[in-house]
Amino acid sequence: MKTWLDAWPVFRQLTGPDPLGRGAAARSKATEGVVSRTATADRVVQSVCPYCAVGCGQRIYVKDEQIVQIEGDPDSPISRGRLCPKGSASKSLVTSPTRVTKVRYRRPYGTEWEDLDLDTAMHMIADRVLEARRKGWQDENDGKRVNRTMGLASLGGATLDNEENYLMKKLYSAMGAIQIENQARI
Ligand code: SF4
Repeated sequence: MKTWLDAWPVFRQLTGPDPLGRGAAARSKATEGVVSRTATADRVVQSVCPYCAVGCGQRIYVKDEQIVQIEGDPDSPISRGRLCPKGSASKSLVTSPTRVTKVRYRRPYGTEWEDLDLDTAMHMIADRVLEARRKGWQDENDGKRVNRTMGLASLGGATLDNEENYLMKKLYSAMGAIQIENQARI
């Protein structure tokens, strides 16, 4: 017969079949009803952690077309199912209500951020790129034809993968830049 003592985990641990307190002794009615989000997801998508150049594999669990959980991918030869604390928290990179989803702009000498629509921002970037390319253009250097611009340089970030860096190299070379660097190791 169950007594009030059975509601006390340490009593169940000392008197029941779970002396180490890692199973039935530690469970409550609430924990009995808990189902993991990985078990109830509609589908799983394999991806790569976006935070650093290690490129750990991730499994992204999706339910009703929303990300409900991100875990390490045991199939990844790089990370074998592991994620560091940043990678483990990357779900909030996508789902956090504080995520910035608009283009933000603070104009020269401005004191406040402004929202810009994407088209306007893209045109502003294109204008600046063209101007910097033109200002830094060199037809020749020390009497040799070089056809290059010293007005542009690219310093890739840790989250860029091989394919992105390949495309960036093509783009910047086509624009005449010669200072092109990246941090890709994946
Ligand atoms: S899980 Fe951590 S170590 Fe792995 S790629 Fe992401 S940030 Fe880098």
